[in-house]
Amino acid sequence: MNLRIPGPIPVPNNILEAMATPMINHRGLEFADLLKKVTAGLKQVFQTENDLYILTASGTGAMEASIVNTLSPGDNVLSASVGVFGDRFGDIASIYGAQVETIKSPAGKGIEPNTIRESLKKNPKIKAVLVVHNETSTGVTNPLPEIAKIVKNEFNKILLVDGISSVGSIPLKTDLLGCDVVATASQKGWMLPPGLAFLSFSQNAWEAHKISKMPKFYFDIANYEKYLKIKQPPFTPALSIMFSLDIALTQILDEGIENVFKRHFNIAEATRNGIENIGLELFADKNVTSNTVTSVKIPDNVDGKLLLSTMREKHNIILAGGQQELSGKIFRIGHLGLCTYEEINDVIEALKKSLPECKLAS
Ligand code: PLP
Repeated sequence: MNLRIPGPIPVPNNILEAMATPMINHRGLEFADLLKKVTAGLKQVFQTENDLYILTASGTGAMEASIVNTLSPGDNVLSASVGVFGDRFGDIASIYGAQVETIKSPAGKGIEPNTIRESLKKNPKIKAVLVVHNETSTGVTNPLPEIAKIVKNEFNKILLVDGISSVGSIPLKTDLLGCDVVATASQKGWMLPPGLAFLSFSQNAWEAHKISKMPKFYFDIANYEKYLKIKQPPFTPALSIMFSLDIALTQILDEGIENVFKRHFNIAEATRNGIENIGLELFADKNVTSNTVTSVKIPDNVDGKLLLSTMREKHNIILAGGQQELSGKIFRIGHLGLCTYEEINDVIEALKKSLPECKLAS
């Protein structure tokens, strides 16, 4: 199967095999070495000197951790959303009692940084801004450097970033931009199975943590910090994925992070060109198009559901459909982690063959 969804992604065999490593004592010396090594490696990829924690959770757990560790019920929060995951970020804050103000951009477009400036000017009570760097549901990479400049340099607010489908694949310089918390998850560009989430936490975030009153137990970062000091996890970690993480990080750092970003850009360009060459239209605006997931409009005369099932059944290619209101309107091609030109060519060739077979009766 050519699994071309934006996570989970195909895991290279050598990384997958590391999961078969026999279990070790997670409170023993061997684990202490592993934790120290992978935490240092993750910081390099995050481009941060901030604290960095490994959670046994999916990405949503890390989003929740970023909120409950920095905010209190009643805090005013600005959520800039361009899709499903942006909406989720705001929903989590709201469920924990924050007063969430949302600015939404139409699907396929990025956040207009000036709308954030205007909202922060209008409501000085806003304490934190929530942003998804790469909105996987629409294939949009938001202009985080411009947003961060406004949030941090002009207004000095807490900046919480969902970098779940970007960190390690699309440049996100955590410290240079001043991001207070950045969250990501193992099943994305990290070339790993799902199950781990990684979270960077700034000094400013620690200041916010001191006064934060949202309830937290499993995700209380203070607990992770306390245990990291003795090179242990607070709870039993997903050890098998940690063994794989060690191999994946070595591979990423050996290749060089800038080369990894370039490789993602090149494969994304090949995907976009291939799509346009067969007469399909890209969904995301060109200036904010993602290098980890390409969203494609389903032509009006094509049955989208049939297209995806034809791709799967006749060509062994699994694509992602549109989510929520984009269901039936777009499909998405994931190209994070290790993705070859051959795999993308196969997708394009199979689409070319399948499209005429999936025409709606006129
Ligand atoms: N945010 C973004 C941008 C994502 O792409 C995803 C997963 O696809 C999530 C959040 C949610 O992550 P998870 O499904 O690992 O909880």
